[in-house]
Amino acid sequence: MLIDSHAHLTVPSVVDRVEELLQRAQQKNLSAIVNICVDPASLDKGLHLAQRHPWVFNAAATTPHDVEKEGELFFPLVEKEARAGKLIAIGETGLDYHYEHSPTLLQKEYLIRYFELAKATHLPVIFHCREAFKDLFELADRHYPGGRAVLHCFTGTLEEAKGCLERGWLISMSGIITFKKSAALRAVAAYAPLDRLLIETDTPYLAPETKRGKTNEPSFIEETAQAVAHAKGISLEEVAVATTQNAVQFFSLPKLSSTL
Ligand SMILES: [Zn+2]
Repeated sequence: MLIDSHAHLTVPSVVDRVEELLQRAQQKNLSAIVNICVDPASLDKGLHLAQRHPWVFNAAATTPHDVEKEGELFFPLVEKEARAGKLIAIGETGLDYHYEHSPTLLQKEYLIRYFELAKATHLPVIFHCREAFKDLFELADRHYPGGRAVLHCFTGTLEEAKGCLERGWLISMSGIITFKKSAALRAVAAYAPLDRLLIETDTPYLAPETKRGKTNEPSFIEETAQAVAHAKGISLEEVAVATTQNAVQFFSLPKLSSTL
């Protein structure tokens, strides 16, 4: 059993093929997928998708890239669905100083707003963070101390991973860990305790090494689990069991059937 803790199933490039994607995911033994909604359209479609497929769960927030463009528009919708119990997490939110598509000050403002919403609704937070760990740690320490969070698609250094782990956060490994050049990331996976790791595809982005150039999808998740297993010197089965358990606990998922 595997759980994809981060996929964008309802963005325009994927949503038309989502039923076949889900079918292939089931064949590959996935028991749950966390669908990350980033705007009104993907949230609306995500809510409908979860009705049809009770093993798909939704999280929502404006990404740090888009807060300038549509942060204001989307926030009340996220708030409404979070308060109605339709979301299992707030995110992905955070800071991205690599691209800086939105001003950093505004990214921080929205991150703080989402912290407040997460606290009010008792939901965990999914972080997106690129080249901004110092500020992320500072803001979280001030506005979200002791809060539940996962650093999605972790690509930071070992020191930054330690900063996450010290704060009690989980670290989620994407297909990037399967790339040949990702030795440093495999060292992070080896270092992080097994009970603090999640795995994800970040569909439709970041297909793993053997699928590079293809559009990513949840059924490709096993390669990432295998890379984590290899880095830690344990079996794929152990990684599957642990990351599934971690995701169930972290997102407070209902009991999942292995024979969906
Ligand atoms: Zn994402």
